[in-house]
Amino acid sequence: MSFDQLGLSQPVLQALELKGYDTPTPIQEQAIPLVREGRDLLGIAQTGTGKTAAFMLPSIDNLRESDNRIPFKSCRMLVLAPTRELAGQIAQSAKDYGAMAGLKVQSIVGGTSVGKDRNKLHRGCDILVATPGRLLDLIDQKAFNLGSVEILVLDEADQMLDLGFIHALRRIAQLVPQERQTLLFSATMPKSIRDLAGNYLTNPAQVSVTPAATTAERIEQYLLMVQQDEKQALLELVLSGRYEVPGKMDRVLIFARTKHGADRIVKKLSQRGIAANAIHGNKSQPQRQRALAEFKSAKVPVLVATDVAARGIDIPGVSHVINYELPNVPEQYVHRIGRTARAGKDGVAIAFCAEDERAYLKDIRKNTDAEFERLPLPENFRAVVEGVGPTKPAPRQPQKRVNPKPKGGEGAASSGKPKRKHPNRAGKPRKPGPGGPRRKPGGGQRRNRQAGNR
Ligand code: AMP
Repeated sequence: MSFDQLGLSQPVLQALELKGYDTPTPIQEQAIPLVREGRDLLGIAQTGTGKTAAFMLPSIDNLRESDNRIPFKSCRMLVLAPTRELAGQIAQSAKDYGAMAGLKVQSIVGGTSVGKDRNKLHRGCDILVATPGRLLDLIDQKAFNLGSVEILVLDEADQMLDLGFIHALRRIAQLVPQERQTLLFSATMPKSIRDLAGNYLTNPAQVSVTPAATTAERIEQYLLMVQQDEKQALLELVLSGRYEVPGKMDRVLIFARTKHGADRIVKKLSQRGIAANAIHGNKSQPQRQRALAEFKSAKVPVLVATDVAARGIDIPGVSHVINYELPNVPEQYVHRIGRTARAGKDGVAIAFCAEDERAYLKDIRKNTDAEFERLPLPENFRAVVEGVGPTKPAPRQPQKRVNPKPKGGEGAASSGKPKRKHPNRAGKPRKPGPGGPRRKPGGGQRRNRQAGNR
């Protein structure tokens, strides 16, 4: 199937040609004709499936056809997204896909100047991509209204609920016209999302590309059983290439459960000469953007993220996802590893599992189709750990199955300093592994002894 069989206009097809897309993804094949018909849509799809184009391409054509004027202090299509990063990406996609259609696209997100947002929305726009909080701020200030919305899109709806946006969504739903097209996308389909869909969608068509908790086939998944206080040492061995893991390491995304945990990992890596950035809710927008840009350009190819910060971010080229701590919600595991193997590429996911995380592992195995190949720890690993010093374990969280609340994830900080400082080492610190030397797992007695002596 090709895009021109899906009923898209020439300007949109030209924009796709410029982007280099020749074949629609499965969600695009299913969703585009339905959205073009004007149907409401419930889409079950994760990021990485091409869902942004699935709702944006036909909507651009619907907007072109309805040909209404840009409304003063309002918009014709409103896309709500849970995070600033996702909103930014969707807005960029809208600009790319609508490049030939002459539509005006704006985006507003929290953490930036409200005054600037007020100014840029004054004359209205065709497509507005927004996070719910900032949108309501501007509505409350009478700087914007939703009276002209023809198409409403709720993207990553499950994440919006997890982030506590339900009241904001309810308010927004009351402010948009009754007569509108509504498209709702979610990676998972818990009851809360079914309820949301029941309230906001009218006779929706449903499309789904993967069952809620299915990991992509192209992701190889590995497991390392390691004590909590040995994880930092293991991570350093992996990143420095002294412990070779499968797959060519290019850009590595590491998941930590808490913001402080993420910062601690970055700090300890930098003490060992391994450059890394962290993204999480305490980082300012410019800090996040810089971290993402440095990751994308591979200037700093190691990024440590929390679930909330990383959700929905499209970072092309992630070769490895490392679960430094296992998530306490199985679906979160699927989201995490879905950051690799994007756009048809292969990917590697490695889980570091400590004794007290076995229950999480069991839950992941039971509730998703994840199959792990177990890797051995490096030889003489204990000696290496002695050289690095133990790390403080992340705080335990209650086990949950669905709808992780960010409160427990990002906010729950672990306190305390490392128990022992790494002794001074002679020689230069090693550079991170991506692109560096790689050896077989467990096959490095000599180098491990060396590391242990440090
Ligand atoms: P999304 O799921 O919308 O975040 O898209 C994931 C990635 O796939 C993005 O980098 C898109 O630019 C890319 N993409 C979307 N549709 C296609 C397509 N039909 N062919 C190639 N790449 C695509």
